[in-house]
Amino acid sequence: FNKLKGVLKKFVDSVVEVAVTRELREEDIAPLLDELVIELAESDVALEVAEEIANRLREELIGRKIPRFSDVRSLVVESLEKAIVDVLSRGYQPLDLIAEARSRSPGNPLRILFFGVNGVGKTTTIAKFAYMFKQNGITPVIAAADTYRAGAQEQLRRHAEKLSVPFIGGRYGADPASVVYDAIEYARARGYRVILADTAGRMHTDRDLMEELRKITRVAKPDYRALVVDALTGNDAVEQARFFDEAVGIDFIILTKVDADVKGGTALSVAAVTGKPILFVGTGQKYEDLELFDPKRYTEKIIG
Ligand code: GDP
Repeated sequence: FNKLKGVLKKFVDSVVEVAVTRELREEDIAPLLDELVIELAESDVALEVAEEIANRLREELIGRKIPRFSDVRSLVVESLEKAIVDVLSRGYQPLDLIAEARSRSPGNPLRILFFGVNGVGKTTTIAKFAYMFKQNGITPVIAAADTYRAGAQEQLRRHAEKLSVPFIGGRYGADPASVVYDAIEYARARGYRVILADTAGRMHTDRDLMEELRKITRVAKPDYRALVVDALTGNDAVEQARFFDEAVGIDFIILTKVDADVKGGTALSVAAVTGKPILFVGTGQKYEDLELFDPKRYTEKIIG
Protein backbone atom coordinates (compact mmCIF):
# COMPACT_ATOMS: atom_id res chain seq x y z
CA PHE A 1 0.00 0.00 0.00
CA ASN A 2 2.72 2.41 -0.99
CA LYS A 3 0.28 4.72 -2.66
CA LEU A 4 -1.77 5.44 0.46
CA LYS A 5 1.41 5.78 2.46
CA GLY A 6 2.75 8.32 -0.02
CA VAL A 7 -0.47 10.33 0.04
CA LEU A 8 -0.46 10.56 3.83
CA LYS A 9 3.20 11.46 4.00
CA LYS A 10 2.71 14.18 1.43
CA PHE A 11 -0.14 15.63 3.47
CA VAL A 12 1.95 15.72 6.64
CA ASP A 13 4.87 17.33 4.78
CA SER A 14 2.61 19.98 3.25
CA VAL A 15 1.07 20.93 6.58
CA VAL A 16 4.52 21.22 8.12
CA GLU A 17 5.53 23.43 5.21
CA VAL A 18 2.62 25.87 5.56
CA ALA A 19 2.81 25.99 9.35
CA VAL A 20 4.91 29.12 9.46
CA THR A 21 2.72 31.03 11.94
CA ARG A 22 1.94 30.12 15.54
CA GLU A 23 -1.45 28.85 14.48
CA LEU A 24 -2.64 26.52 11.73
CA ARG A 25 -4.72 28.79 9.49
CA GLU A 26 -7.82 27.80 7.59
CA GLU A 27 -6.56 29.37 4.35
CA ASP A 28 -3.42 27.26 4.50
CA ILE A 29 -4.92 23.95 5.59
CA ALA A 30 -8.21 23.84 3.65
CA PRO A 31 -6.61 23.42 0.20
CA LEU A 32 -4.40 20.64 1.55
CA LEU A 33 -7.44 18.83 2.89
CA ASP A 34 -9.20 19.13 -0.48
CA GLU A 35 -6.18 17.64 -2.15
CA LEU A 36 -6.01 14.90 0.46
CA VAL A 37 -9.60 13.84 -0.27
CA ILE A 38 -8.89 13.49 -3.98
CA GLU A 39 -5.71 11.52 -3.44
CA LEU A 40 -7.28 9.24 -0.85
CA ALA A 41 -10.05 8.50 -3.33
CA GLU A 42 -7.42 7.61 -5.91
CA SER A 43 -5.96 5.17 -3.40
CA ASP A 44 -9.22 3.20 -3.16
CA VAL A 45 -10.60 5.02 -0.14
CA ALA A 46 -14.35 5.49 -0.65
CA LEU A 47 -15.18 9.18 -1.13
CA GLU A 48 -17.41 9.39 1.93
CA VAL A 49 -14.64 7.92 4.04
CA ALA A 50 -12.01 10.24 2.58
CA GLU A 51 -14.28 13.17 3.39
CA GLU A 52 -14.86 11.92 6.89
CA ILE A 53 -11.11 11.72 7.50
CA ALA A 54 -10.64 15.22 6.09
CA ASN A 55 -13.42 16.60 8.30
CA ARG A 56 -11.86 15.14 11.39
CA LEU A 57 -8.51 16.63 10.46
CA ARG A 58 -10.20 19.96 9.81
CA GLU A 59 -11.64 19.96 13.32
CA GLU A 60 -8.38 18.86 14.87
CA LEU A 61 -6.01 21.08 12.97
CA ILE A 62 -7.57 24.36 11.88
CA GLY A 63 -7.07 27.10 14.44
CA ARG A 64 -4.76 24.87 16.43
CA LYS A 65 -2.14 26.89 18.30
CA ILE A 66 1.35 25.57 17.93
CA PRO A 67 3.14 25.85 21.27
CA ARG A 68 6.65 27.21 21.10
CA PHE A 69 9.29 24.51 20.54
CA SER A 70 6.65 21.93 19.76
CA ASP A 71 6.83 19.79 16.70
CA VAL A 72 4.15 20.43 14.08
CA ARG A 73 4.91 17.16 12.39
CA SER A 74 4.09 14.98 15.37
CA LEU A 75 0.94 16.99 15.95
CA VAL A 76 -0.28 16.31 12.40
CA VAL A 77 0.77 12.68 12.46
CA GLU A 78 -1.07 12.19 15.72
CA SER A 79 -4.29 13.70 14.33
CA LEU A 80 -4.01 11.59 11.22
CA GLU A 81 -3.41 8.46 13.23
CA LYS A 82 -6.39 9.12 15.42
CA ALA A 83 -8.69 9.69 12.44
CA ILE A 84 -7.59 6.51 10.67
CA VAL A 85 -7.60 4.26 13.72
CA ASP A 86 -11.14 5.42 14.45
CA VAL A 87 -12.26 4.61 10.92
CA LEU A 88 -10.63 1.17 11.00
CA SER A 89 -11.92 0.36 14.47
CA ARG A 90 -15.56 0.78 13.67
CA GLY A 91 -17.16 -2.38 14.99
CA TYR A 92 -13.74 -3.82 15.82
CA GLN A 93 -13.70 -6.43 18.53
CA PRO A 94 -10.82 -8.89 18.58
CA LEU A 95 -11.80 -12.51 18.47
CA ASP A 96 -10.00 -15.59 19.74
CA LEU A 97 -11.33 -18.36 17.54
CA ILE A 98 -8.87 -20.89 18.91
CA ALA A 99 -10.00 -20.35 22.49
CA GLU A 100 -13.61 -20.48 21.36
CA ALA A 101 -13.09 -23.74 19.51
CA ARG A 102 -11.34 -25.24 22.52
CA SER A 103 -14.21 -24.33 24.80
CA ARG A 104 -16.72 -26.11 22.56
CA SER A 105 -18.14 -29.41 23.54
CA PRO A 106 -17.67 -31.90 20.69
CA GLY A 107 -21.41 -32.19 20.20
CA ASN A 108 -21.65 -28.50 19.46
CA PRO A 109 -19.00 -27.58 16.88
CA LEU A 110 -18.03 -23.98 16.17
CA ARG A 111 -19.49 -23.16 12.77
CA ILE A 112 -17.91 -20.62 10.50
CA LEU A 113 -19.49 -19.91 7.13
CA PHE A 114 -17.37 -18.18 4.52
CA PHE A 115 -19.03 -15.87 2.04
CA GLY A 116 -17.61 -13.94 -0.87
CA VAL A 117 -17.63 -13.42 -4.61
CA ASN A 118 -15.69 -15.97 -6.67
CA GLY A 119 -12.06 -15.11 -7.17
CA VAL A 120 -11.52 -13.10 -4.00
CA GLY A 121 -9.54 -15.91 -2.37
CA LYS A 122 -12.28 -17.67 -0.42
CA THR A 123 -11.05 -21.22 -1.04
CA THR A 124 -7.50 -20.28 -0.13
CA THR A 125 -8.71 -18.49 3.00
CA ILE A 126 -10.68 -21.52 4.19
CA ALA A 127 -7.54 -23.63 3.76
CA LYS A 128 -5.58 -21.03 5.73
CA PHE A 129 -8.13 -21.19 8.54
CA ALA A 130 -7.95 -24.98 8.54
CA TYR A 131 -4.18 -24.70 8.81
CA MET A 132 -4.45 -22.17 11.65
CA PHE A 133 -6.72 -24.46 13.65
CA LYS A 134 -4.51 -27.46 12.96
CA GLN A 135 -1.43 -25.57 14.10
CA ASN A 136 -3.27 -25.08 17.37
CA GLY A 137 -4.12 -28.74 17.74
CA ILE A 138 -7.71 -28.50 16.53
CA THR A 139 -8.75 -30.46 13.46
CA PRO A 140 -11.60 -28.76 11.63
CA VAL A 141 -14.03 -30.25 9.11
CA ILE A 142 -14.11 -28.53 5.73
CA ALA A 143 -17.51 -28.39 4.03
CA ALA A 144 -17.71 -27.45 0.36
CA ALA A 145 -21.23 -26.10 0.04
CA ASP A 146 -20.72 -24.44 -3.31
CA THR A 147 -22.04 -27.36 -5.31
CA TYR A 148 -22.16 -25.45 -8.59
CA ARG A 149 -18.48 -24.79 -8.77
CA ALA A 150 -16.77 -28.09 -9.48
CA GLY A 151 -13.41 -26.34 -9.30
CA ALA A 152 -14.01 -25.16 -5.76
CA GLN A 153 -15.06 -28.65 -4.61
CA GLU A 154 -11.92 -30.12 -6.10
CA GLN A 155 -9.66 -27.38 -4.76
CA LEU A 156 -11.04 -27.70 -1.24
CA ARG A 157 -10.79 -31.47 -1.37
CA ARG A 158 -7.13 -31.17 -2.29
CA HIS A 159 -6.46 -28.70 0.51
CA ALA A 160 -8.25 -30.98 2.97
CA GLU A 161 -6.07 -33.90 1.87
CA LYS A 162 -2.89 -31.90 2.17
CA LEU A 163 -3.86 -30.67 5.60
CA SER A 164 -5.24 -34.07 6.70
CA VAL A 165 -8.62 -32.72 7.69
CA PRO A 166 -12.01 -34.29 6.90
CA PHE A 167 -13.79 -33.03 3.82
CA ILE A 168 -17.53 -33.05 3.16
CA GLY A 169 -18.58 -32.15 -0.37
CA GLY A 170 -21.65 -32.49 -2.53
CA ARG A 171 -22.51 -33.72 -5.99
CA TYR A 172 -22.84 -31.08 -8.70
CA GLY A 173 -26.07 -29.18 -8.13
CA ALA A 174 -26.82 -30.83 -4.77
CA ASP A 175 -28.56 -28.74 -2.15
CA PRO A 176 -25.81 -26.60 -0.56
CA ALA A 177 -27.66 -26.43 2.76
CA SER A 178 -27.67 -30.22 2.96
CA VAL A 179 -23.89 -30.30 2.54
CA VAL A 180 -23.50 -28.06 5.55
CA TYR A 181 -26.04 -30.13 7.42
CA ASP A 182 -24.08 -33.30 6.63
CA ALA A 183 -20.88 -31.66 7.84
CA ILE A 184 -22.52 -30.71 11.12
CA GLU A 185 -23.78 -34.25 11.63
CA TYR A 186 -20.37 -35.64 10.74
CA ALA A 187 -18.60 -33.34 13.20
CA ARG A 188 -21.09 -34.10 15.96
CA ALA A 189 -20.84 -37.85 15.51
CA ARG A 190 -17.04 -37.83 15.54
CA GLY A 191 -16.33 -35.10 18.05
CA TYR A 192 -14.86 -32.40 15.80
CA ARG A 193 -15.04 -28.92 17.26
CA VAL A 194 -14.91 -26.71 14.18
CA ILE A 195 -16.65 -26.58 10.81
CA LEU A 196 -15.38 -24.35 8.04
CA ALA A 197 -17.94 -24.11 5.25
CA ASP A 198 -17.53 -22.63 1.79
CA THR A 199 -20.59 -21.09 0.12
CA ALA A 200 -21.42 -20.02 -3.41
CA GLY A 201 -20.27 -16.67 -4.73
CA ARG A 202 -21.43 -16.69 -8.33
CA MET A 203 -22.38 -13.06 -8.62
CA HIS A 204 -23.16 -10.62 -5.94
CA THR A 205 -26.24 -9.21 -7.62
CA ASP A 206 -27.96 -12.54 -8.10
CA ARG A 207 -31.28 -12.85 -6.22
CA ASP A 208 -31.20 -16.67 -6.36
CA LEU A 209 -27.82 -16.59 -4.76
CA MET A 210 -29.17 -14.43 -1.98
CA GLU A 211 -31.93 -16.98 -1.31
CA GLU A 212 -29.45 -19.85 -1.41
CA LEU A 213 -27.17 -18.11 1.08
CA ARG A 214 -30.05 -17.32 3.38
CA LYS A 215 -31.12 -20.93 3.33
CA ILE A 216 -27.63 -22.22 4.17
CA THR A 217 -27.47 -19.72 6.99
CA ARG A 218 -30.81 -20.86 8.39
CA VAL A 219 -29.72 -24.49 8.32
CA ALA A 220 -26.16 -24.02 9.54
CA LYS A 221 -26.97 -21.52 12.29
CA PRO A 222 -23.38 -20.29 12.07
CA ASP A 223 -21.52 -18.85 15.00
CA TYR A 224 -19.71 -16.61 12.54
CA ARG A 225 -20.50 -15.38 9.08
CA ALA A 226 -17.16 -14.40 7.62
CA LEU A 227 -16.93 -12.34 4.47
CA VAL A 228 -13.88 -12.63 2.25
CA VAL A 229 -13.06 -9.55 0.16
CA ASP A 230 -10.11 -8.78 -2.07
CA ALA A 231 -8.02 -5.69 -1.25
CA LEU A 232 -7.34 -5.17 -4.94
CA THR A 233 -10.99 -4.51 -5.75
CA GLY A 234 -11.41 -1.18 -3.95
CA ASN A 235 -14.97 0.09 -3.98
CA ASP A 236 -16.27 -3.24 -5.33
CA ALA A 237 -15.29 -4.74 -2.01
CA VAL A 238 -17.51 -2.21 -0.28
CA GLU A 239 -20.45 -3.10 -2.54
CA GLN A 240 -19.88 -6.80 -1.92
CA ALA A 241 -19.81 -6.23 1.82
CA ARG A 242 -23.12 -4.39 1.57
CA PHE A 243 -24.68 -7.17 -0.51
CA PHE A 244 -23.64 -10.03 1.77
CA ASP A 245 -24.49 -8.13 4.88
CA GLU A 246 -27.98 -7.56 3.53
CA ALA A 247 -28.27 -11.20 2.46
CA VAL A 248 -27.03 -12.97 5.57
CA GLY A 249 -25.59 -10.45 8.03
CA ILE A 250 -21.81 -10.42 8.28
CA ASP A 251 -19.92 -10.81 11.55
CA PHE A 252 -16.41 -10.09 10.36
CA ILE A 253 -14.33 -9.53 7.26
CA ILE A 254 -11.18 -11.12 5.93
CA LEU A 255 -9.27 -8.88 3.56
CA THR A 256 -7.14 -10.87 1.12
CA LYS A 257 -4.19 -10.05 -1.12
CA VAL A 258 -2.95 -7.14 0.94
CA ASP A 259 0.55 -8.27 -0.06
CA ALA A 260 -0.24 -7.41 -3.68
CA ASP A 261 -2.13 -4.20 -2.98
CA VAL A 262 -0.27 -1.04 -3.95
CA LYS A 263 -3.10 1.37 -3.19
CA GLY A 264 -4.05 0.40 0.34
CA GLY A 265 -7.39 2.14 0.81
CA THR A 266 -9.80 -0.81 0.65
CA ALA A 267 -9.39 -1.63 4.34
CA LEU A 268 -10.48 1.86 5.31
CA SER A 269 -13.46 1.86 2.98
CA VAL A 270 -14.78 -1.54 3.92
CA ALA A 271 -14.43 -1.01 7.65
CA ALA A 272 -15.88 2.48 7.65
CA VAL A 273 -18.78 2.02 5.27
CA THR A 274 -20.03 -1.31 6.56
CA GLY A 275 -19.17 -0.91 10.23
CA LYS A 276 -18.10 -4.57 10.19
CA PRO A 277 -14.69 -5.35 11.61
CA ILE A 278 -11.81 -6.63 9.53
CA LEU A 279 -10.33 -9.32 11.75
CA PHE A 280 -7.92 -11.11 9.41
CA VAL A 281 -5.81 -10.25 6.41
CA GLY A 282 -4.43 -12.55 3.74
CA THR A 283 -0.81 -11.74 2.99
CA GLY A 284 0.12 -14.33 0.39
CA GLN A 285 -0.77 -17.62 -1.24
CA LYS A 286 0.65 -19.97 1.37
CA TYR A 287 -1.23 -21.52 4.29
CA GLU A 288 0.67 -19.50 6.85
CA ASP A 289 -0.08 -16.20 5.09
CA LEU A 290 -2.98 -15.24 7.31
CA GLU A 291 -2.62 -12.56 9.96
CA LEU A 292 -4.78 -11.05 12.62
CA PHE A 293 -5.81 -7.54 11.70
CA ASP A 294 -5.16 -4.85 14.23
CA PRO A 295 -6.39 -1.31 13.41
CA LYS A 296 -3.62 0.37 15.35
CA ARG A 297 -0.82 -1.67 13.83
CA TYR A 298 -2.23 -1.27 10.33
CA THR A 299 -2.42 2.50 10.83
CA GLU A 300 1.16 2.66 12.04
CA LYS A 301 2.21 0.78 8.94
CA ILE A 302 0.49 3.17 6.55
CA ILE A 303 1.59 6.28 8.37
CA GLY A 304 5.06 4.89 8.82
P1 GDP B 1 -11.99 -18.13 -4.70
O1 GDP B 1 -12.52 -18.19 -6.09
O2 GDP B 1 -12.54 -16.96 -3.96
O3 GDP B 1 -12.16 -19.40 -3.94
O4 GDP B 1 -10.44 -17.79 -4.82
P2 GDP B 1 -9.16 -18.71 -4.65
O5 GDP B 1 -8.99 -19.10 -3.23
O6 GDP B 1 -9.15 -19.78 -5.66
O7 GDP B 1 -8.01 -17.64 -4.94
C1 GDP B 1 -7.88 -16.95 -6.17
C2 GDP B 1 -6.41 -16.61 -6.36
O8 GDP B 1 -6.00 -15.65 -5.38
C3 GDP B 1 -5.49 -17.79 -6.18
O9 GDP B 1 -4.48 -17.72 -7.15
C4 GDP B 1 -4.90 -17.60 -4.79
O10 GDP B 1 -3.64 -18.17 -4.64
C5 GDP B 1 -4.84 -16.10 -4.71
N1 GDP B 1 -4.87 -15.59 -3.32
C6 GDP B 1 -5.74 -15.87 -2.33
N2 GDP B 1 -5.44 -15.18 -1.21
C7 GDP B 1 -4.33 -14.46 -1.48
C8 GDP B 1 -3.51 -13.53 -0.72
O11 GDP B 1 -3.75 -13.21 0.45
N3 GDP B 1 -2.45 -12.97 -1.39
C9 GDP B 1 -2.15 -13.27 -2.68
N4 GDP B 1 -1.11 -12.68 -3.24
N5 GDP B 1 -2.90 -14.12 -3.41
C10 GDP B 1 -3.96 -14.72 -2.83
